[in-house]
Amino acid sequence: MSTQHPPIVHTVAALREAVAGWRARRESVGLVPTMGALHAGHRALMRAARARNSRVVVSIFVNPKQFGPNEDFAAYPRPEGADLAVLAEEAADLAFMPGVEEVYPPGFTTTVAVAGLTEGLCGAHRPGHFDGVATVVAKLLIQTAPDSAYFGEKDYQQLQIVKRLARDLDIPVEIVGVPIVREADGLALSSRNVYLSAEERRIAPALYAALRETAAAVAVDPHRAGAILTTAIASLGKAGLRVEYLELRDAASLAPFSGDLSRPARLLAAVHLGRTRLIDNVPVPPG
Ligand code: AMP
Repeated sequence: MSTQHPPIVHTVAALREAVAGWRARRESVGLVPTMGALHAGHRALMRAARARNSRVVVSIFVNPKQFGPNEDFAAYPRPEGADLAVLAEEAADLAFMPGVEEVYPPGFTTTVAVAGLTEGLCGAHRPGHFDGVATVVAKLLIQTAPDSAYFGEKDYQQLQIVKRLARDLDIPVEIVGVPIVREADGLALSSRNVYLSAEERRIAPALYAALRETAAAVAVDPHRAGAILTTAIASLGKAGLRVEYLELRDAASLAPFSGDLSRPARLLAAVHLGRTRLIDNVPVPPG
């Protein structure tokens, strides 16, 4: 049975009109920001929104500001028909699909920059990326004015940045983090997994396996964390994954790991596999 996809709006004005109608009836609104190429990870965000809000808005916008000059903005998958089918299946109430000119009209010059949290990890390797993310997320939160907005732990640093920007800018929204959805073999779902060749796809689950093993080893012996990470980087390299970073951080502040497991810690990684960059992260079990 085919279900109909939700109404699509392309402008901020039409988005606000739809949300205002729900607000007038005191319905709560959840926002799920995405770049499309929707998969089960995005579906988990939509279901989390559905569980807490009576209306679910999904934005689909491939944000040029968060791609570097040598990154995959042009090649990023944009399967609109399949995405609308997912929105129908998940019973989303509205698709917000603005064009680049709607989000960044001529003369647009504002940047939202979250200091500190954006500096290490992915921020160190993708200059300007998190400014692009923070700018578009701030706009989406202001445009939609949802009660809650949903972000995946897959992009763990991004989730912490979004929580901070909402707090710092007094945007009245609850930012909800959603656990990572994985393939049966452990690979975190990502729109970029379509770039993997068959051989690379076979190798890719080694990232999650290494993260889990490494986090478990650190939990047993946190004072040997440095040596444990060095060994893990070497073994990922042997498996065919070139490590961009593999780091232990405080789970909330993202400050470098102090060696003290009485506070929640997180192990985060980015690796290159052929032309594909994969990111993943796991909690470190408490000591
Ligand atoms: P993207 O479309 O890749 O920008 O992702 C949109 C949202 O979906 C972000 O909040 C991501 O963290 C989240 N997301 C992407 N992949 C996953 C996953 N495998 N599990 C949970 N959330 C995810």
